[in-house]
Amino acid sequence: MWLAELRLRDFRNYASLDVAFGEGVTILQGPNAQGKSNLLESIYTVAMGRSPRAGTDAELVRFGQERAYARVAVQGVRSHTLELAFDRVTGEKRIKVNGIVAQRAQLLGRMAVVLAGPLDDEVIRGAPGYRRRVLDAALSQVSPSYFFALTRYVRVVRQRNRLLREAVSASELVPWDEQLVELGAALGERRRRFVEALAPRARARHARIAGGSEELDIAYICSAGEGEERAALASALTARRGEELRRGTTLVGPHRDDLRLAVNGIDLRTFGSRGQQHTAALSLRLAEAEMLREDLGEWPVLLLDDVLADLDRTRQAFLLDEMAGPQVLLTHTGAPPDGGAPVRLLSVRAGMLVEDADVRA
Ligand code: ATP
Ligand code: MG
Repeated sequence: MWLAELRLRDFRNYASLDVAFGEGVTILQGPNAQGKSNLLESIYTVAMGRSPRAGTDAELVRFGQERAYARVAVQGVRSHTLELAFDRVTGEKRIKVNGIVAQRAQLLGRMAVVLAGPLDDEVIRGAPGYRRRVLDAALSQVSPSYFFALTRYVRVVRQRNRLLREAVSASELVPWDEQLVELGAALGERRRRFVEALAPRARARHARIAGGSEELDIAYICSAGEGEERAALASALTARRGEELRRGTTLVGPHRDDLRLAVNGIDLRTFGSRGQQHTAALSLRLAEAEMLREDLGEWPVLLLDDVLADLDRTRQAFLLDEMAGPQVLLTHTGAPPDGGAPVRLLSVRAGMLVEDADVRA
């Protein structure tokens, strides 16, 4: 699927923007602080119903204004319009799908997106929650039932934590334990299968970008331990009941799971060089896009923010070759890389877009 039109009103530093995009690769170029990342953020935000970075939705509203609005027209097997409006005064966020007010659950997957960029530093180096979010965002876009199970699971954990803090008796915890096992096992199993399919794809991408000298391993680390999900989770809960009551929090389940990323057997988070971490993050995102394509039957839109910055020009050109297939919107501060398929160039200047000729031609 591909993003055909984007409209922004008072979104970050965009007062008013209407732009049409084509399939293939579009490079958004310009100096720092012009609105390149903001543009990709706006697309991600309408597609997912929340910003990838904002602490509060209010940050999305252009300074001095009250209401931010973004609309996309997406084309593919099905065509949709998706809208998101946020009112800073009332705090209301409104999502519309094809003109009708909708919940996030009805939005996800209409325009599947994968965003790669500086925020991925946290995926490699940050807390486990960042890595879980990669899995949850991808799976929520391909499977409404995953999103529903995740939403319910989060509520069960919150409720169970409250009971643990109140130090209730074991019998009062039983119904919550059952739900935790039921939902947690389903989520864990789905994530593990996803990672098993993701890992070889990410490894192949990484090897190509790194010139064949590095082997990337990605594994799903289950907080309940090895074995069949339901049984492992149930026995881990029993084993750690005392500790949970002492600490007043649920210690096992998908909300405590993690991803392990290693290059040539060495943990990337602790020992990886910056270049290795960068390449692994990019490979992970490109593999995620492949996974979405297989599950949805069409490519997601690839939003690549500043991913060329740490690569030499040979690798930059090579990376563009890797991108045949999906629609790609790529931000870049420098001159466009050599080689690769023809690209469309748009200059971003202070919240406005200007068409550029492709000087490489
Ligand atoms: P870089 O090359 O440094 O990554 P960029 O072009 O990606 O730059 P953006 O991150 O998109 O730049 O930010 C552009 C500008 O948007 C920043 O100068 C920032 O101050 C401004 N900005 C951020 N939020 C808002 C907002 N709510 N209202 C108005 N301007 C904002
Ligand atoms: Mg930027």
